[in-house]
Amino acid sequence: MISKDEDRVPVFTTFEQKNSDMFKSINLSDNSVDKTNPVTDSEKVKCLIIGSGPAGYTAAIYAARANLNPVMYEGLQPGGQLTTTTEVENFPGYPKGITGPELMEDLKSQASRFGTDIRWGLATKVDFSGTVHKVWIDENKLVEAETVIIATGATAQYLGLDDEKKYAGSGVSACATCDGFFYRGKDIAVVGGGDTAAEEAIYLAGLASKVYMIVRRNELRASKVMQERVFKTKNIEILWEHQTKSLFGDGVVEGATLVKKKGTSEEEEVNIKIDGFFLAIGHKPNSDFVKKYINTDEVGYIKTIPGTSKTNVAGVFACGDVQDPVYRQAVTAAGSGCMAAMDAERYLSEKHG
Ligand code: NDP
Repeated sequence: MISKDEDRVPVFTTFEQKNSDMFKSINLSDNSVDKTNPVTDSEKVKCLIIGSGPAGYTAAIYAARANLNPVMYEGLQPGGQLTTTTEVENFPGYPKGITGPELMEDLKSQASRFGTDIRWGLATKVDFSGTVHKVWIDENKLVEAETVIIATGATAQYLGLDDEKKYAGSGVSACATCDGFFYRGKDIAVVGGGDTAAEEAIYLAGLASKVYMIVRRNELRASKVMQERVFKTKNIEILWEHQTKSLFGDGVVEGATLVKKKGTSEEEEVNIKIDGFFLAIGHKPNSDFVKKYINTDEVGYIKTIPGTSKTNVAGVFACGDVQDPVYRQAVTAAGSGCMAAMDAERYLSEKHG
């Protein structure tokens, strides 16, 4: 029984769990979304939004209210990463918290209310070489857009263990800021040795009783400053040269089996008792389909002109996690979605006078 916060069972949900009872009343890809892809071969639009997370929906709200008649393609995961978490307690305006799917449903309703044409479909190819931007949906539908807002987000990397899927929503998470709260006073592990892992371990150490950092080499990739902070944090223990073999537990994560010094004569298996298993081994921005035309950094994050959402191609804008390696929060994504719509509106005003 859930009696107080400390006793709350981690209840994150996965995309796959959207069909569970909890989400039966919330269907992010229902009703107004036309799944038949009504695009003719040369449909022309003023503003095309690709992606339907907080950035995409916020861009849609602003673009629709500015009479840009936005058309949005939702992508593979309608609603984006927030549909994979249950409790969202840090999005301003919801003092009692809200579930991720409900928040996305609200954003979607708001975007629809102002006339956004929300469609099911995945942008698979682009041609940004001309003044009109061509985007193919599901390989074969062509949309020609005066402005394009890329809001395709980023995908957290996982180790690829079967147990990550088995315990998804039951102790496995890829977002400390989203889910750390549920582990107050508990023992948890963070996988990775980069800046994200260091940052998340330090953040989680302020909530959890003990944080193990599972690091596959004998050094951290994180910046020196972050390393020092990790080393100074008393309740973080680094497990050097450890790799995760499996997770165990009765329905929820209760521990992990690690392999120490894998592939050496000193190789041994170690079990640690943990309630939460946090992945922090990097994110992959969903930018592959535009890379031929749009400048990205070495990881794949779209480069925008600082203080704007402008990319290197006039009329193409980027917002949300696909261009943000640092903050990656729903609220910062939403803010950048607003910027993208305003930049698109100004671009069109200047173009048409
Ligand atoms: P990184 O690629 O920098 O680090 C990934 C970490 O995960 C590495 O320690 C890597 O190990 C480890 N790893 C990768 N794959 C596996 C695996 N299969 N098993 C075990 N461990 C694995 O990613 P980050 O997300 O940490 O950072 C991405 C970028 O964003 C970086 O440039 C970073 O500096 C930046 N960033 C900046 C922040 C800031 O300025 N505040 C905050 C967060 C990120 P190994 O080292 O052995 O390869």
